[in-house]
Amino acid sequence: MKQISIKLRVTLFYTAVLAVILSVVLGFVFLALDLRLVYSSKANLEDAVKGAFDDIDFKGGQLEIDSRIDLYHDGITLVLYGPAGTLLLGSTPSGFPVETPLIADTHQSAQSGSRQWQVYDMYVGYGDTGIWVRGVYSLSASASALNFVTIVAAVAFPLVLLLSAAGGYLITKRAFRPVDRITEAANRITGGNDLSERLSDGGGRDEIARLAQSFNAMLNRLEAAFEREKQFTSDASHELRTPISVILSQADFALANPDDPAEILHALQAIRTQGRKMSALVAQLLELTRADNRTLQLEKEPVDLSALCETVAEELDEQARARGIRIQCALDPGVVLEGDQTLLTRMVMNLVTNAIAYGKDHGYAALRLRQTADAVQLSVSDDGIGITPEHLGHIFDRFYRADPSRRSSQNGSAGLGLSMVRWIVQAHGGTVHVESEHGVGSVFLVTFPTGG
Ligand code: ADP
Repeated sequence: MKQISIKLRVTLFYTAVLAVILSVVLGFVFLALDLRLVYSSKANLEDAVKGAFDDIDFKGGQLEIDSRIDLYHDGITLVLYGPAGTLLLGSTPSGFPVETPLIADTHQSAQSGSRQWQVYDMYVGYGDTGIWVRGVYSLSASASALNFVTIVAAVAFPLVLLLSAAGGYLITKRAFRPVDRITEAANRITGGNDLSERLSDGGGRDEIARLAQSFNAMLNRLEAAFEREKQFTSDASHELRTPISVILSQADFALANPDDPAEILHALQAIRTQGRKMSALVAQLLELTRADNRTLQLEKEPVDLSALCETVAEELDEQARARGIRIQCALDPGVVLEGDQTLLTRMVMNLVTNAIAYGKDHGYAALRLRQTADAVQLSVSDDGIGITPEHLGHIFDRFYRADPSRRSSQNGSAGLGLSMVRWIVQAHGGTVHVESEHGVGSVFLVTFPTGG
């Protein structure tokens, strides 16, 4: 059953249901008709026999039969007999079994070969004599009516079934056409590897349209994921190309000057710097990939965020001072969050590093931590270069740098810091927002709902 199409299955099912319904209805009609015919023929027969006595009379011991007595009426034959069964008037239809006994007020049926009769007899006595009136009605007329109905049913039944099956199949096929189109489109997408193709929902709101819409939504997600993957691979190779070419050229340079220890030292230092840059980049890439694959496990524990921010500020103080930047801390004491200490440290570190890197010389980087009734809020702000509106929507994207020339050459920044921040914040159930004005400064606000 599973091998045949749904269209055929639906058609077979309702044709079978229709066949059962038709059979039951026809059976009822046939039975009702049969009963009705027999009933009405009995009633007519009885009326005809009783009516005959209106034309029969006894006057002065003499039997008088009205000459206008109608012995053949509406297919009923009347025959009159004396009390001992001697034929007085009329004759039974040809073929009728004459030996059928006379039984008063009883319906009998008589048969000869394939012919059938309904018989009704009545006796009326007059003094010591009397008269029998027998009514005979041939059932062939009713039988032929039933036969006609049978023949019509036998022809109409398969015809109706055939027509409704064919019509139903066409309608079902039509109804399933969008499904066929979806299948074709899915095959084209699989075969041609073209994820940009979409299915038409025909503008409807039915089940098929909803299926097409869900299918398209899935394709949108798939396409975006593939695009991201492609972009990620191309960006990652691009980022690795620069340090690799620096390493190769420095190595060539050192090999070309084997007698100049100062140059060799310089080349080795450059190679080490680029090596560190690559190592940092690869570590970040690995972490992001693990985050994507959800294999980066959060090791949750109560983390003292106030102390954590303090430590990060101290650690980055020297880097900030180098540019005359002051790190200002306004931290509510003892703010504790259930989270991963290492990742939360990375998050704060990335934000403050950015505030310093994109801050202005002799400016500030402000770190604020607040515990409100229902959330922990952390903000990192600076009075640096700010971000123009066209970049603002992208800075959390991987490898996105508003101004690539500015920092990447110095410390291996590859535009991955904020995407890591966003991932860490989301993994802790929080949100991160940025407000920035070009030339004025930026504020990154991280909120962790605490449900209280
Ligand atoms: P990067 O490694 O380049 O710093 P990030 O993902 O940390 O990468 O940041 C992405 C981009 O967002 C940066 O290249 C920079 O242009 C911009 N950005 C991030 N933080 C700040 C900030 N505090 N002020 C101005 N621009 C910023």
